[in-house]
Amino acid sequence: MKKVLAIWILVFLTTFILNAQENHSPTLTGNVQISITQGTISCDFVLADMPKIAGKYAVRINSGMNIRHFKDLSTNTLLDFEINKNDTLSSGGARESLAYYFPIDLNQNKLLKSQIGFRYTGMYPVADSLSGYTVQDWRGNVAFNGYSIRTDGTQSSWYPVLVDMETKKSYEEVKFDITVSCEDCSTLYVNGLPPVKARSATFKSNIPRQLTIFCGNYEFANVDGTLLLNPDMDGKQQEKFIKIINSYKQYLEKKLFIPYKGNVTFIQTTPTASKDHAFLFVTYPSILNVGVGKYGLASTFDHKHGDNSKAFIAHELGHYYFGTVLPSNTVFAPIINEGFTEFLSFKIKKSLISDSLYQTDIKAKANSLRSFKTNPLSKIKSEADMKGREFYVRIYVPVLLCAIEKEIGEKAMWNWLRTMLLEKTELTDYAFLERTFCKSLSKDKNASQIADKFFKSEDSVKYIMETILKNP
Ligand SMILES: [Zn+2]
Repeated sequence: MKKVLAIWILVFLTTFILNAQENHSPTLTGNVQISITQGTISCDFVLADMPKIAGKYAVRINSGMNIRHFKDLSTNTLLDFEINKNDTLSSGGARESLAYYFPIDLNQNKLLKSQIGFRYTGMYPVADSLSGYTVQDWRGNVAFNGYSIRTDGTQSSWYPVLVDMETKKSYEEVKFDITVSCEDCSTLYVNGLPPVKARSATFKSNIPRQLTIFCGNYEFANVDGTLLLNPDMDGKQQEKFIKIINSYKQYLEKKLFIPYKGNVTFIQTTPTASKDHAFLFVTYPSILNVGVGKYGLASTFDHKHGDNSKAFIAHELGHYYFGTVLPSNTVFAPIINEGFTEFLSFKIKKSLISDSLYQTDIKAKANSLRSFKTNPLSKIKSEADMKGREFYVRIYVPVLLCAIEKEIGEKAMWNWLRTMLLEKTELTDYAFLERTFCKSLSKDKNASQIADKFFKSEDSVKYIMETILKNP
């Protein structure tokens, strides 16, 4: 599963920032036409109910889309456009999107229009075992695999995603009323709504959601309210799988005293790159598993790989808390989203999957810190300060949390996590971490002394290793 982990890390190059505040989400209406055999997607959208953005803005649209027009609908005039080359999703990583803005706004450099019309068309490679694979597949890909299209919202920006360039807040969560048509599909799915057996259907939601879509020729099952799209399991396995999922959800609910709202939808699909490519990602309530055979969801029943597969799924379920209940921002967004979620998956691994697998893993991870010269949490002002972002958020932070748990005890640790999740905060920055930690700890524990050691000390790695390896 090493390869899975490596690719899985690669696809999370960007931070996903969720915003559940209904009032601040724009509304998307219009039509989208898809052909899964041709690899085409044509969009005719209106973005309205714009949030107030005081400074510079951009509208991200996937870089494979050819613009026919942008239109100011209040005056019915076509809008000339420019591209902001400094946008992080446009310039770094996989460069999935381009960040458009309209020169007419230049004198004030802010969005003046309340409704914008968008028309554009894209054509993408259709990659399957017969036509040959693409080089890579990743979260932000507009992926046509021969029998379906799969694409997320945040990273692919297949629909217009408004971004506040100053605060870096992006508005991929939209209220929507869209008609999806696909002549060569049998099933249409838009994130959070029931899948429809049709070639054309209207999907409407007043709850803002990221528009992840999965449309194509596949079957689906509903097991006690949990949807499995394109399942690679028989009926008995499906029931067994849902039992496992429910036990993880119940465990987290019981420990955090915060209920899991709504059911999860699992999407099982084939990568557009070779069959060794595999990764998982989540856009609540959808959890997508891109991988087949030993990397498919049914691999949870595999004797050799099953426990690792379960741990990956536990991680995605954990994102309900660190990601959805607590949306994060600032440079600490990946630390909180990924680091704390991985800690939750450690807890599930230890308690419900395999204690011996947990013990082996945690020792190996603690040992791997040995040569990691990094900065403690309190000194992180930019990604560069982490001295290796992926290692920092996926190994250093979760192992650090295990060490802190050893120091303060399990009950106090859950109490801290719960305090974070319930705290009303504008910024999820370092001050937020320290404040919630000190607030959640009872007086008999010396919070500031523990914070000094694990959050502020240059020797944090040494303290973490000592604490874990002494008694994992
Ligand atoms: Zn994650």
